[in-house]
Amino acid sequence: MAVLTGAGVSAESGVPTFRGKDGLWKHYRPEDLATPDAFSRDPRLVWQWYNWRRGLIARANPNRGHYALADLERTAPEFTLITQNVDDLHEQAGSKNVIKLHGDIWQVRCLSCGRDWIDTRPSIAELPPRCGCGGLLRPGVVWFGEELQPGIWDRAEYAARRAQVFLVIGTSAVVYPAAGLVRMAKCSGAKVVEINLAETVITSQIDAFLAGPCGELLPKLIA
Ligand code: NAD
Repeated sequence: MAVLTGAGVSAESGVPTFRGKDGLWKHYRPEDLATPDAFSRDPRLVWQWYNWRRGLIARANPNRGHYALADLERTAPEFTLITQNVDDLHEQAGSKNVIKLHGDIWQVRCLSCGRDWIDTRPSIAELPPRCGCGGLLRPGVVWFGEELQPGIWDRAEYAARRAQVFLVIGTSAVVYPAAGLVRMAKCSGAKVVEINLAETVITSQIDAFLAGPCGELLPKLIA
């Protein structure tokens, strides 16, 4: 069994999605914030936005959807959770085999020496932050237009191709290559089940669609 989650799975924990009703992008344009170009243009602005997101995520707790997926992992013989989320709510809920396609909001990486580490301060005071070597630090996440880490992608692709059941939860399925995992799983013979508040671009290509909040539907599905 493999699962692909998106921002919708954390929405009920109070972390806004990018494209939903209260999406972050209603206030900010993605190209002004989550791209390498935006960061070279205005690292301080990008860091201010990450500070805001760090604060939201630091205050958030896993919801019933996160816990249901951790329960499922304990019972399924082989289980991989692939997430596009950069928060750590799946891990906090007890999920173990988690592939974080788009990195981790708590990681920082030096653009000069390449060193990376975890910094869990909800807000970083000195913006933009700098490494001990003097280099500029960036968030350890994958921005629009950037490549995924090859090792990470290989693991996700392997899990999608091997899955007999593939759950797609709370994602608009428009961000590639992540969204491509759905077709990969389907073409390799998996039954694909989607949970979302509303139909998405993949709904017509899959086996079953469950409409509603995943915090409510996942515990029922798993029970
Ligand atoms: P998205 O914002 O594009 O789509 C969110 C989807 O979730 C929508 O289809 C919406 O209908 C659905 N949704 C909202 N609330 C739901 C609920 N309670 N139950 C079920 N479905 C619900 O998000 P995405 O597809 O993950 O892709 C965009 C990018 O957003 C990813 O790369 C990810 O890194 C980033 N992101 C991450 C976080 C986070 O880490 N929590 C938050 C915002 C954005």
